[in-house]
Amino acid sequence: MEFNLDNILRENIKTLKPYSSARDEFKGKEGIFLDANENSFGSPLNENYNRYPDPMQLDLKDKLSKIKGLPIQNIFLGNGSDEAIDILFRAFCEPGKDYAIICPPTYGMYEVSAGINDVAILKVPLLPETFQLDTANILKAINNNTKLIFFCCPNNPTGNGVKWNDIKTILENFSGIVVIDEAYINFAKYRSLIPELLNYPNLVILQTLSKAWGLAGLRIGMAFASEPIIDIFNKIKPPYNINAVSQKLALKALDNIEQINAWIKEIVSEREILSAELQNLSFVQKVYPSDANFILVKTNDPQTIYNYLVAKKIIVRDRSKVELCEGCLRITIGTKEENKNLVYILKSYK
Ligand SMILES: *Cc1c(COP(=O)(O)O)cnc(C)c1O
Repeated sequence: MEFNLDNILRENIKTLKPYSSARDEFKGKEGIFLDANENSFGSPLNENYNRYPDPMQLDLKDKLSKIKGLPIQNIFLGNGSDEAIDILFRAFCEPGKDYAIICPPTYGMYEVSAGINDVAILKVPLLPETFQLDTANILKAINNNTKLIFFCCPNNPTGNGVKWNDIKTILENFSGIVVIDEAYINFAKYRSLIPELLNYPNLVILQTLSKAWGLAGLRIGMAFASEPIIDIFNKIKPPYNINAVSQKLALKALDNIEQINAWIKEIVSEREILSAELQNLSFVQKVYPSDANFILVKTNDPQTIYNYLVAKKIIVRDRSKVELCEGCLRITIGTKEENKNLVYILKSYK
């Protein structure tokens, strides 16, 4: 199916003249800067924090570009993935008219962000138990006002990946944008879909520094897409959306890739150990296979177990009210110590 960005871009965004900041208009690093109404005397923090940060985060993108094997022009950085999700709605969905498809159970922010933007959501649930895509019903649900389809792979809260063939079917039969949220890709056995950006101009991939990279507090999310789509993201974002401290610390953190890779390996190995341990407990009905840094566990009595754990100062996520996750708790993989503790405490339940 033909994808034409102009056909799906909102008219107000097409004609929008973006804000041009002082740092957009003069990019040099040397000189007397009297252009941005900053405090020229300095910052109380002995750092250059009196200066506005790079609006395009070029140093950080340069480093990410090498790690991800993707040109800078194909990278957008947001104040968390949440900002990228919000921008997708604002760029492509006419409030009160267009809509997006999501496949629950999945990440809650797609629906919240749609709601904030007054964009209707059409839900095509994942298939029960396997949590794979119901491609036939997704294709049926698409019409001229469908602008976005969100897939989360590996999916939160189920932990599984969705089949590439199913995603491909949608990509090839939809003239809107397919968003693949890869927040947990570092923990999966399969690779990111980044190389597919070359084949699919309607593909947007989301990743984040919040999970494997251990930088949830810095709020840095990434969107990867064709250059024209990234240009639209940049047109809409607030001028200085990533603050100077986050840019600086993330740049430093990205040098620790060996540490991150070692942690990922350990988390994956702990995930398998914990899954096996939990499977042995009498009140656990099922531990779903996971490609993420958490596991979905079906139990007889989720609320009581949740409260029991809270009383023991262990906090997990109760997902038992979520459709298709009845009875389920979502448990993040902790350190070896923490996981041992969890199992020890669960063994004395009842
Ligand atoms: C945690 C998570 C994110 C990350 O959001 P940030 O705003 O980047 O912290 C994105 N998508 C999914 C599915 C998540 O679970």
